[in-house]
Amino acid sequence: FLDIRGVSKSFGNVAAVSDVSLEIARGEFMTFLGPSGSGKSTTLYMIAGFFEPTGGDIRLDGRSILAEPSNRRNIGMVFQRYTLFPHLSVAENVAFPLRVRRRSGAEVSRKVEEMLALVRLERFADRMPAQLSGGQQQRVALARALAYDPPLLLMDEPLSALDKKLREEIQAEIRRIHRETGVTILYVTHDQEEALSLSDRVALFNHGRIEQVGKGRDLYDAPHTRFVAGFVGHSN
Ligand code: ATP
Ligand code: MG
Repeated sequence: FLDIRGVSKSFGNVAAVSDVSLEIARGEFMTFLGPSGSGKSTTLYMIAGFFEPTGGDIRLDGRSILAEPSNRRNIGMVFQRYTLFPHLSVAENVAFPLRVRRRSGAEVSRKVEEMLALVRLERFADRMPAQLSGGQQQRVALARALAYDPPLLLMDEPLSALDKKLREEIQAEIRRIHRETGVTILYVTHDQEEALSLSDRVALFNHGRIEQVGKGRDLYDAPHTRFVAGFVGHSN
């Protein structure tokens, strides 16, 4: 479904991502795990179209997407924080990607209602983002990212600004949404517990390369390198 082929990215003489290859199946929940600076976000941003790779190709459903501008790629995104439009209500934030796509008023209302129900924020439609907690804001961001039914959802440490209890609560919600919608998810985190508990498979990054890809359990039980054993075995 998503095919990352030998992708590299350098910033000047810094090699942020070096020859990363990975295939992700439709409906899969994959996390990118790894220490700070290991190239997780850079890889995600190349898929999103914010960065152009220095080499390699990225294919979605068999077609290269590199020539498509970011807003044409049909990919939903949620970031760490400050992701909502502060001057728009919750409902208008969720409606935004639908209005950009010129959906009818009736469809926009129907979809906004459906999405706010999905993240259990029906009663918050008329609030402004500043009147929501951090966790509620991230749920709105999730509702907005999914509003136009993108087949692929990218999330870059969406819960890292939240406390542990709230993080666990929203993790459960993300798992449920993944089950209910079947959307393919690529989720970036440097928290190994989060990666192991959320995803079908984990790609462990180190110095711009993937050290190992597999089920969390396999990385834990059968690490290919010392780095994998160290990173997955201990909390960090
Ligand atoms: P973190 O967990 O801290 O978010 P990360 O794994 O997401 O880390 P990246 O943000 O992908 O890491 O960064 C990989 C490398 O690329 C780092 O050495 C970083 O300094 C460098 N880098 C990332 N973005 C840029 C940029 N816009 N300009 C220059 N260097 C960059
Ligand atoms: Mg990052």
